[in-house]
Amino acid sequence: MIYLKTDEEIALMRESNTLVGKTLGELARWIAPGITTLRLDQIAEQYIRDNGGIPGFKGYGGFPFTLCISVNENIVHGFPSSYVLRDGDIVSIDCGAIVQGYNGDSAYTFPVGQVAPEVMALLRTTKESLYQGIEKAIAGNRIGDISNAVQTYCEARGYSVVREFIGHGIGRKLHEDPEVPNYGRRGCGPLLKKGMCIAIEPMINLGSRNVVIERDGWTARTRDRKPSAHYEHTVAITQDGPAEILSSFDYIEEVLGENRI
Ligand code: MG
Ligand code: MG
Repeated sequence: MIYLKTDEEIALMRESNTLVGKTLGELARWIAPGITTLRLDQIAEQYIRDNGGIPGFKGYGGFPFTLCISVNENIVHGFPSSYVLRDGDIVSIDCGAIVQGYNGDSAYTFPVGQVAPEVMALLRTTKESLYQGIEKAIAGNRIGDISNAVQTYCEARGYSVVREFIGHGIGRKLHEDPEVPNYGRRGCGPLLKKGMCIAIEPMINLGSRNVVIERDGWTARTRDRKPSAHYEHTVAITQDGPAEILSSFDYIEEVLGENRI
């Protein structure tokens, strides 16, 4: 069942997603060699609560933290911990917040200090593939058009696409229909209609696409332990014209300046 949102509901989705964008921007100020990922989680929770939101992930399906923090070979759903970020790491931060009952969801992979050029290229391509997908998020297209755009963009550049985790509809619930895979065939899947809100979130690996779940039951990492990147926006399908991106990387990129991906 795909819920089409009213303009009033989309306005609330804009609020929750803006708060997520601002939270990621706040985290960008702190991400540097020497900080623990648990400290980042505390900063995010405080920021969300201080700004009238509720952490959207904490308690969702039993997930114990505000952020999913996935370093280097970890793909998604990593636990914040006493791990200290080091020069050359990449850190994927996935953040959710609820404002007035509606969910925001967005993710960004940050370089920590000086990152190897081949890993920076992975980040850049993954982020670009997100926008390739968003370009296809137009009323009258189908989900497969988004999926195929992400997949072909990344595979043409020699990267592999994670299959086990995918994007999703979003609204009152964090995960709603439809599913939004990062691989698939053009012209297939549900029809996109005005009022659909979806999270598009490519998870792209430098090596093979194979995934292992760690013993905590949550953390997904690459089997070959090569790095993985993850960028996510929540978007709303409009009547005509491009999708509205409800989340924002602007707050992050203001902080990163010339180091933006
Ligand atoms: Mg997310
Ligand atoms: Mg998501």
